[in-house]
Amino acid sequence: MRLFGTNGIRGVANVDLTVDHVRDIGQAVAAYLDAGTEIAIGGDTRTSTPMFRAAVAGPLLEAGFDLWDLGMLPTPALQFNVKHRYDFGVMVTASHNPPQFNGLKCIAGDGTELERWQEERIEEHFARKTKPTVDWRDLGSLRADHSAGKRYADAILAQVDPRAVKGKGLTVAVDCGNGAASLVAPHLVEQLGCRVVSLNSQPQGTFPGRDSEPSEENLTTLSALVKETKAALGVAFDGDADRAIFIDEKGRYLPGDKSFAIMARAVTEKKQGKVVTPVSSSRAVEEVVRKNKSEIVYTAVGAPLVARRMIEESAVFGGEENGGMIFPEHQVCRDGCMSAAKMIELVARRGPLSKLADSLPKYFSHKTKLACPEALKQPLLAKLKETAPSGADFTDGMKVVEGDAWVLIRPSGTEDIFRIFAEARTPQKAKLVGEKWKAATAKAMKRF
Ligand code: MG
Repeated sequence: MRLFGTNGIRGVANVDLTVDHVRDIGQAVAAYLDAGTEIAIGGDTRTSTPMFRAAVAGPLLEAGFDLWDLGMLPTPALQFNVKHRYDFGVMVTASHNPPQFNGLKCIAGDGTELERWQEERIEEHFARKTKPTVDWRDLGSLRADHSAGKRYADAILAQVDPRAVKGKGLTVAVDCGNGAASLVAPHLVEQLGCRVVSLNSQPQGTFPGRDSEPSEENLTTLSALVKETKAALGVAFDGDADRAIFIDEKGRYLPGDKSFAIMARAVTEKKQGKVVTPVSSSRAVEEVVRKNKSEIVYTAVGAPLVARRMIEESAVFGGEENGGMIFPEHQVCRDGCMSAAKMIELVARRGPLSKLADSLPKYFSHKTKLACPEALKQPLLAKLKETAPSGADFTDGMKVVEGDAWVLIRPSGTEDIFRIFAEARTPQKAKLVGEKWKAATAKAMKRF
């Protein structure tokens, strides 16, 4: 039975994610872990998070594991603490999903999200309903770790040159979306030496300020605040603060591929090496990385895949086009607060942010989709592969390069569609290439 999707376990609280279900998952996790494993538990600000934290804790204590409750904190803060102090982590969060959702992410001892084979072991125990219990004398203990957030913030501060930011008089507008960043980000940015104006930075599980995804339409208030307060930049986090999105000093929303390209350029200017990103990332990233005599390494879509590959390749930087950036000198997972600190340092040294964005190679994208039933996805992909032009790449779906344009055709992991994503030097060309391949995919589907 498959429990874990591409983003851990997700569902609507008390509807498809219930206390009983989470307790059963906790039981399977207990069966998977070795005796003596010290486990950290944390969660985001959702109204159902305390309930699910208690539900997953029960069977772990029942099986004799000692638990440390890290409280309300960003996912990367839990990951950082697992890496340095604990052996395993359970994060109760549904990341950027609407407030009625919740979920679980399991963190391995090195601070990265579990690999697929590890998830499968847990799923096997879940299916078998393995129930580990111990004698009452050996039950696990539950203790609070109140310093987890501070240790995490201190580690980020240690990665930034304080002289670069302090005394520059930067104002930074911070929008935490009432999520897990609220307890860390505003204070962290202040400690960097900036003036902070904060928005939606009281933790509140109904997300009254804005939706949890830091999309352009959800950040119009932040954009106005940046202009109003003459801030050097604005930063917004998703619900569990593993991703950060930026607004430049003119109030313009920077899509995640732009901030990723800006940071990839800055990192490889100082330190040449490998940059890891999924095949869906903008060509602008590859271009700036190559220009700095560095190498781009493509993976299938999914942050844990990027993180694993970074470890294998000893990469200097990695991330995704959705605002997820990975700084391996800090930890090999997406980290919103680390991204914010590094972007502030970069703007203080080399800003303004609008200039950093406008000096990137210009590409335009065209996104479209094609309905396709689940059962047809793999046969259709196989059919496309048969007739693929030479040089096509199959790292994830099919990627075809046509001169300075490219198109990625891949089945969605969550919906009954194929996503078709094209990028080119002009919006017209991007649309042309995207629609051409959409038609070709539709034609291939008609043959079934
Ligand atoms: Mg997230």
